[in-house]
Amino acid sequence: AQERYAGLRDLPATALCGTTVSLHMNAGLMADLPSLISSGAEGVGLFRTELQFLVRNQMPKRAELSALYARVMDAARGKRVAFRTLDIGSDKVLAYMKPQDEPNPAMGWRAIRLGLDKPGVLRMQLQALLRAAAGRPLTVMFPFVATPAEYRAARAELDKAVERERILGHPLPERLEVGAMIETPSLAFAPDSFFREVDFLSVGGNDLKQFFFAADRENERVRRRYDLFESSFLTFLRNLVARCEAAGTPLTFCGEDAGRPVEAVALAALGFRSLSMRPASIGPVKSLIRRVRLDEGRALIEEGLARGDETLRPAFDAWLARHV
Ligand code: PEP
Ligand code: MG
Repeated sequence: AQERYAGLRDLPATALCGTTVSLHMNAGLMADLPSLISSGAEGVGLFRTELQFLVRNQMPKRAELSALYARVMDAARGKRVAFRTLDIGSDKVLAYMKPQDEPNPAMGWRAIRLGLDKPGVLRMQLQALLRAAAGRPLTVMFPFVATPAEYRAARAELDKAVERERILGHPLPERLEVGAMIETPSLAFAPDSFFREVDFLSVGGNDLKQFFFAADRENERVRRRYDLFESSFLTFLRNLVARCEAAGTPLTFCGEDAGRPVEAVALAALGFRSLSMRPASIGPVKSLIRRVRLDEGRALIEEGLARGDETLRPAFDAWLARHV
């Protein structure tokens, strides 16, 4: 199936209306990196750093992490890698961390909440990233941020780490780009100042949908019950895109939906200009985007929402069926 898309590898995901969407890949292990070149991805839109912590039976040392991140950047050959800081807790439990007995771990002490309350590991990881970047650009993304204050506290940890490196005389990143993931609906309603403050935002659609619909992403019974095409969710995303456009904030979508061609076209039609997905999805997503007019998709969404359709799935499927 990958060969089918090989001819598209070096072509842009430009739709028939002329709009180009940049396609990035999700990664988490060194073994994923060769796909960056073979898939034609523009960069790594989401590097899940927790995988390195999950595959070990003790806390990795800073020097080990730093060497690993440097190898990731080397393998990316100058392409942008968005390193997401540790997203543990919830479904991701470290063998060497005291298990938390929480009634609702997905809504519990996880990701940036844990990182800010016990900053030792976060500081170590930020320092490892800074040392790995040394003279190269660095992109850092904080997971599961629910309020601007959490983003600011995480950003302050990074600024402190930069200052420490400066004092030690270590080379600093050539450029530092810092963003937050939108995984809780609350952050999409933050004040305008927050949108101007971040260098970029990235929707973690898996978690965002889980909290938007209150449907456990691990629970087979409910997880497929609601989808991206529910007009409530499309309205939410449309509002988020508009706020980012108004503030000039680059916005990416990096949940599983970005790798589903029909959903990816809907996201692009809504105004997402950057999508990050499993490497194997890049070909199929690019192929479909290149066959449609996104302005038509956008009009279809607007009409459906104005009409009061509860879901735009049937209308969207019917429209796309005319292109394949
Ligand atoms: C998400 O929630 O959509 C996401 C990209 O992060 P993860 O799947 O690792 O929680
Ligand atoms: Mg998530």
